[in-house]
Amino acid sequence: MVDYAIIGGGIIGNAIARELSLRGAGEINVLEKENSLALHSSGRNSGVIHSGINQKPGSLKAKLCLSGSSMLRNYCAENKVPYEECGTIVIARNTEEKERLHRLHKMGEEAGVSGLRILSSKELVKREPYIIESTALLSPTGAIVDSKYLVRTIAKEAESRGVKYIFNCQVRDINDSSIITSLGSVKRPKHIINCAGLYADNVAQMMSEADDYMIVPFRGEYLEVNVPINSMVYQVPDFIHPFLGVHLTKTLEGKVLAGPNAMLSFGRESYAKEFNFNESIDMITKPHFWKMISKKSFIKTAYLNSKTSFSLGKFREEVESITNISITRIQPGRAGIRAQLVNKDGEMVDDFKIIYRNDATHILNAVSPGLTCSLAFASYVAGKILNE
Ligand SMILES: Cc1cc2nc3c(=O)[nH]c(=O)nc-3n(C[C@H](O)[C@H](O)[C@H](O)COP(=O)(O)OP(=O)(O)OC[C@H]3O[C@@H](n4cnc5c(N)ncnc54)[C@H](O)[C@@H]3O)c2cc1C
Repeated sequence: MVDYAIIGGGIIGNAIARELSLRGAGEINVLEKENSLALHSSGRNSGVIHSGINQKPGSLKAKLCLSGSSMLRNYCAENKVPYEECGTIVIARNTEEKERLHRLHKMGEEAGVSGLRILSSKELVKREPYIIESTALLSPTGAIVDSKYLVRTIAKEAESRGVKYIFNCQVRDINDSSIITSLGSVKRPKHIINCAGLYADNVAQMMSEADDYMIVPFRGEYLEVNVPINSMVYQVPDFIHPFLGVHLTKTLEGKVLAGPNAMLSFGRESYAKEFNFNESIDMITKPHFWKMISKKSFIKTAYLNSKTSFSLGKFREEVESITNISITRIQPGRAGIRAQLVNKDGEMVDDFKIIYRNDATHILNAVSPGLTCSLAFASYVAGKILNE
């Protein structure tokens, strides 16, 4: 009998598979609906290994981001996964932003992020000549990684320790004795670990869990721009929404991406803005959804993000508000979709949410910085499952 069936071959499912195999936990299968790994959030993100400055003190995210960041950088170095430690800069352009920047600085120090300091304007110009004159907080431990390569490396290691991968295997239902998949029924294992990302709520509900929650998909669209940068450059967060404002990140191939924005998506995998009728009906018939969209703060964010989603000119203006050169080359890049958990009061859940049962564990809201946290997250979850 299989001991663990992990549903979902993203970074979280793979990191947990690796961790359980390292701990000799028994027979492990990963069931993935696609024909390869990391086709969704885990392969469509900014690839940033966050330092942990902007996580709420005391949250699970804050705890796992700090340890996860150093675990992941060490893992990349040891396993030859391409990554670069380029540092992160957060800028503040006016008095109100400066107040938030100081709050961020304090939060980062309280969380234990090392090396944080405010740059003088001379230092900022030297480091980032194309970024607008501003007060800037430097977090030197920020890095970028090839996230698809990372997922495949982790999977290879898990496979070498006996984890079995079953592709094109969509989990459609789960009852007391079986998991019903697109490849047929299989005997229910001792423990199911639901790491289904954008569909984690649906999978949990197959086991009558998480009925009070729904996942709302938010598309993050990127643009490739001609702004030479040395570090990642962020606007100071508003501390209200889980989404960061448009920022600049580098890729390991030398591109500079602006984004992602955060646009309500009418389909959980609608990367090219396709309208998915069934998923949209399912979303808009839930009371959580209406409670969420009637909140004042949501309306403001939705308005700002729809401007950048529908108008290249507005996206360009957003980018130009943080740079001092005009954007002459701008082209749509890829998009990713965030699996944002919303509770029955219509509030977006900020922290990771994990439901533990004797025979199942459900990973809900594995949103950013899920990639950064992945190894620390897997160690934390495996410890709980195995009572270690
Ligand atoms: C635009 C964007 C930018 C981000 N940037 C960063 C960043 O820079 N740094 C960072 O740390 N984090 C970032 N994140 C967050 C990070 O990408 C996620 O936290 C992480 O990828 C979540 O991994 P996952 O394994 O839970 O989900 P996924 O990668 O979505 O994996 C879930 C898997 O489950 C499979 N699946 C779903 N339903 C079923 C089913 N019924 N049966 C079988 N298989 C199923 C899917 O096919 C998929 O492969 C970003 C996310 C987005 C969307």
